[in-house]
Amino acid sequence: MNNPVAEYLASVKPEAVNTAFLAYLCGLTETAAIAPKIAASIVGELENQRKRVKLIASENYCSLAVQLTMGNLFTDKYAEGMPGRRFYAGNENVDAVEADAAAEARKLFGAEYANVQPHCGADANVLAYWAILSARVEAPALEALGETNLYKLSGAQWQELKRSLGSQKLLGLDYYSGGHLTHGYRYNLSSRMFDVHSYSVSGETGMLDYDAIEGQALEIRPLILLAGYSAYPRKINFRRMREIADKAGAVFMVDMAHFAGLVAGKVFSGDYDPVPHAHVVTTTTHKTLRGPRAGLVLAKQEFAEALDKGCPLTMGGPLPHIIAAKAVAFKEAGRDEFRDYAARIVENCRALAAACINNGLTVLTGGTDNHLILVNVNELDNGSGRITGRQAESALHECHITLNRNSLPGDPNGPWYTSGLRIGTAAVTTLGMGTAEMEELGAIIALVLKAVSPAPAGSKAKYTIEPGAKAEALDRVKKLLDRFPVYPELDLEFLQKAFC
Ligand SMILES: *Cc1c(COP(=O)(O)O)cnc(C)c1O
Repeated sequence: MNNPVAEYLASVKPEAVNTAFLAYLCGLTETAAIAPKIAASIVGELENQRKRVKLIASENYCSLAVQLTMGNLFTDKYAEGMPGRRFYAGNENVDAVEADAAAEARKLFGAEYANVQPHCGADANVLAYWAILSARVEAPALEALGETNLYKLSGAQWQELKRSLGSQKLLGLDYYSGGHLTHGYRYNLSSRMFDVHSYSVSGETGMLDYDAIEGQALEIRPLILLAGYSAYPRKINFRRMREIADKAGAVFMVDMAHFAGLVAGKVFSGDYDPVPHAHVVTTTTHKTLRGPRAGLVLAKQEFAEALDKGCPLTMGGPLPHIIAAKAVAFKEAGRDEFRDYAARIVENCRALAAACINNGLTVLTGGTDNHLILVNVNELDNGSGRITGRQAESALHECHITLNRNSLPGDPNGPWYTSGLRIGTAAVTTLGMGTAEMEELGAIIALVLKAVSPAPAGSKAKYTIEPGAKAEALDRVKKLLDRFPVYPELDLEFLQKAFC
């Protein structure tokens, strides 16, 4: 096509112009003029997402309003510092955007303070950790020395301060129990910053045991007690966790990266809403919250000053174009439709758990309170040998079901092959699927898993899948997705003709 924009406009009546599609088309036309392969890959991604059902618990589909807000000239601005107090001139409009985004975040979550600058969830956690260290370790140390300027410390005082900052204790959920890499995993910065201790889920119930956590916290007396997860299918009683933190003299931090949408949508309220109970709350904005790929820190006023010093503490320049998109997403998440969406995510997840169980799969903890379930595929014996999470993930991908393998508590297959699958309903709920579709998905997943055999026998990665089952699964997935297309505003065929 010579000029895809002109061709599209010529093909529709003025009143039928789809502005979101037109905006995409204009953007891709600009991209293709410089880098045609990049434009083709963007269209290829739409094609991919249209034909595969997405059950990755950490992913979602954000609105086209959010996506289109990201592409603008704010990317050109340096805005180190906070609104009204920048290291660079000319930030009047960035100030307005950032102040608005922070106000929307505070309103949405009922928080005293919000910092909308972190670029992602890992970034938000690094900022939160260092702000807590600043407020609770560095500030008292400086006060004891009667000093405010770090450059006035003697070499010995500076070394001593760094030693005390580097020897603090963090108590968070163990990686194998569903904790995140940034909660003290050995290969992550967090384990090198802190003396890390972990609590696990109970071996019997697979759930958090608050009395056991209290015992551990009182023994360890960590600087930070951290709650939150990437792979735990139940709600957390944050009032109880705060009580534990108070008894142990710890700062209570919650990483709600996965379930922020359920908090915003009021599915988790009262004892199960982290914001009133925690000193500091971190999150991503792109998982259940359905915003742009980014991070956010909420806090009690006590930590505001330390968090405001995020640059230069841990961050450089913020991304004002992404902050603008966060403001759009927070507004969307404050609407009644989003509450309804959040409730449907959980309703769908319960239906999916029930469907998996009814089709003979083992669901950890017997169900779910949130947007994700964990399935133990190692329990499934097809008579041809037990499969790993890795084989299950690959076989399902081959059948156009995208999800990820996950290690389970005490996993006999280790963190690479694993024995589990993590399955989430946030993305398919965005598409409009309901409980009937969850029953169908549970049945298709079971159909595929029962048709997989390790091959050669004993392999943890290679497998065969019975061809009849694969054909049936592909057909049933296609029928489902034909009814619930991803980004229906975007005319894939037109884009393929124009850019591929
Ligand atoms: C996803 C996740 C993160 C990291 O978010 P990124 O945006 O990938 O950096 C941090 N904490 C938890 C609990 C998560 O699930």
